Amino acid sequence: MLGEAIIKGMAVTAKNFFGSYVSKERLPTVQYPEERLVPKENARQFPFLVYDGDDWEKGLRCVSCQICEKECPPKCIYIIKSKDKKPDYKGQAQFYPARFDIDISVCMSCGICAEVCPFESIKMDTEFELSTGDRFGGLLLPKEKLAKSNEHYRKVHPTDAAASDAVLAAEIAKAEAKAKAAAEAKVKADAEKKPA
Ligand code: SF4
Ligand code: SF4
Repeated sequence: MLGEAIIKGMAVTAKNFFGSYVSKERLPTVQYPEERLVPKENARQFPFLVYDGDDWEKGLRCVSCQICEKECPPKCIYIIKSKDKKPDYKGQAQFYPARFDIDISVCMSCGICAEVCPFESIKMDTEFELSTGDRFGGLLLPKEKLAKSNEHYRKVHPTDAAASDAVLAAEIAKAEAKAKAAAEAKVKADAEKKPA
């Protein structure tokens, strides 16, 4: 019966309204901005670029493959690939983004960029207070502002960051094993070339 459902709904509302004066559990809102809720681990707001080590520029994981730029639905990622290469986390020479901007005023927080990145480089942050009084480009964030450390990633998304660390550690181990095998093969080939 329609009337019964309305009465039940009003009873729940009344219970929470009056209960909020005596029980904190019945008060789901906080006095923002004086009070802030701790962001949930699976919260996602805007993307950031992960870097390893102390130097954000050297440690940026992005290899400028531009997959995220192509897949971003509202096309708010702008990348200019470098002309030269620098070593990545495996020590392999890779391109890097000479320029990497995200227009946060256009970003719709879908997280697709983070899902498609094959290099564990772009992730979703929990930070949401990014408003600015600068109407002309204040929300077009360059790589200097997008770069955040892997420690930050571990802090905001510990489960995902641990999985990410495991992927990278496995890739480093694979690259080291390959380099070791190549070095051993070279030593063997050189030994076989030597006259008896
Ligand atoms: S979260 Fe979505 S909209 Fe925002 S930059 Fe990534 S792909 Fe684009
Ligand atoms: S963030 Fe990832 S997907 Fe985007 S350009 Fe860099 S490496 Fe490629």
